[in-house]
Amino acid sequence: MTGDKNINKIEFAKNKDAVDPLAQYRNEFYIGDKIYLDGNSLGLLSKRAEQSLMKVFHSWKEYGIDGWMKGDYPWFDLSQQLGKQLAPLVGAYESEVIVTGSTTVNIHQLISTFYKPTTSRNKILADDATFPSDIYALKSQIQLKSYHPKDALIQVKSKDGILYEDEIIEHMTDDISLIFLPSVLYRSGQILDIERLTQEAHKRGIQIGFDLCHSIGAVPHDLHKWDVDFAVWCNYKHINGGPGAVAGLYVNQKYFGKTPGIAGWFSSRKEIQFDMNHNLEAAVDAGAYEIGTPHVLSMAPLIGALEIFNEVGINNIRKKSLELTNYFIELIELELSQYKFKIVSPIEEEKRGAHILLEHEQSASICKALKSHGIIPDFRAPNFIRLGPVALYNSFYDIWKTVNVLKKIMEEEQYKNFDNTREIIA
Ligand SMILES: *Cc1c(COP(=O)(O)O)cnc(C)c1O
Repeated sequence: MTGDKNINKIEFAKNKDAVDPLAQYRNEFYIGDKIYLDGNSLGLLSKRAEQSLMKVFHSWKEYGIDGWMKGDYPWFDLSQQLGKQLAPLVGAYESEVIVTGSTTVNIHQLISTFYKPTTSRNKILADDATFPSDIYALKSQIQLKSYHPKDALIQVKSKDGILYEDEIIEHMTDDISLIFLPSVLYRSGQILDIERLTQEAHKRGIQIGFDLCHSIGAVPHDLHKWDVDFAVWCNYKHINGGPGAVAGLYVNQKYFGKTPGIAGWFSSRKEIQFDMNHNLEAAVDAGAYEIGTPHVLSMAPLIGALEIFNEVGINNIRKKSLELTNYFIELIELELSQYKFKIVSPIEEEKRGAHILLEHEQSASICKALKSHGIIPDFRAPNFIRLGPVALYNSFYDIWKTVNVLKKIMEEEQYKNFDNTREIIA
């Protein structure tokens, strides 16, 4: 926290922006005239992502089928090439990362690969605060192995949006076969201690995987060093890969050679894929977890998007991101104290991802009022406002303005002009 008495002055924000080493990147994005605080749901388009998309599009126009091997970015090994660009963001060897599928498909892929229940060890340990799709996938994988989720899925309970590592560890009992947890909780923004949880799981002979959807591109990871077994993530939130961008996965190299749970012809060793043999020889690296033909046009923006991350460096992104959320929290505490907002996110910065969550009875109508002022938050049922400032394109002024608009909305009771119900997409 700054401890500075002037943080509520516009000059404070402007001065912070003037010395922000990442400020120049804002111009690389299509921001428009809005204050966009929803980059943790869908990141904005950058000019570099637009250019790489157009180049790949052009190679279709120009080369037809030969685009698989020709053009600026041949499609055949694009999944591998993008895996290499993502490897530094997750702290893995290049061969451990592949761009493929969607988060949910990749969960199915890796759970079906790693979940090998036995009579004595057949449960999956998860939590009750994660994104629903993760739980749906776990339940269907349990059913596919002829177990019942009621018995075989253990969900550690959160309290006020927070999970306690000690409690998760207490649940790592002899009957647990596999653990799957988020890195950052999509609501409260809490970061789990991946290294500690992995160590404790391994002490008990349990394999552990993580969903990095809310940390990738915002928080550094060291998956290989932490010895994490596997991980998945989407590339359309902080990575800015575009709506429906192809997702990513990591598998620790100690499992190279393992048979993928869900196979397809793109799981093959690349050199022999076109032999069209009916006996699959799976790739020895993370490529084994590809399934079918990659969605090339949904990967193309990632080429430009990831270039920016590797230029800026994830540690610099994390540094600014924490400054933004610290400033947000401090301003909210200072300016909005009488309006009954509760900050659900952890105040300690090492426990906080890149967004903050506010609880308020009137959250849905407050979000609509914010949107009427050109500020884009994210409503989460039943009564939460999620605010995700992005280091690459949000400014300190954006935060200052948002809190001041919020103050006005509360002071003048502007939220009463909107009904307190959610839209279909929220
Ligand atoms: C965003 C998100 C998803 C979305 O999965 P898709 O397959 O991309 O729709 C899943 N899990 C978590 C934790 C997420 O944050």
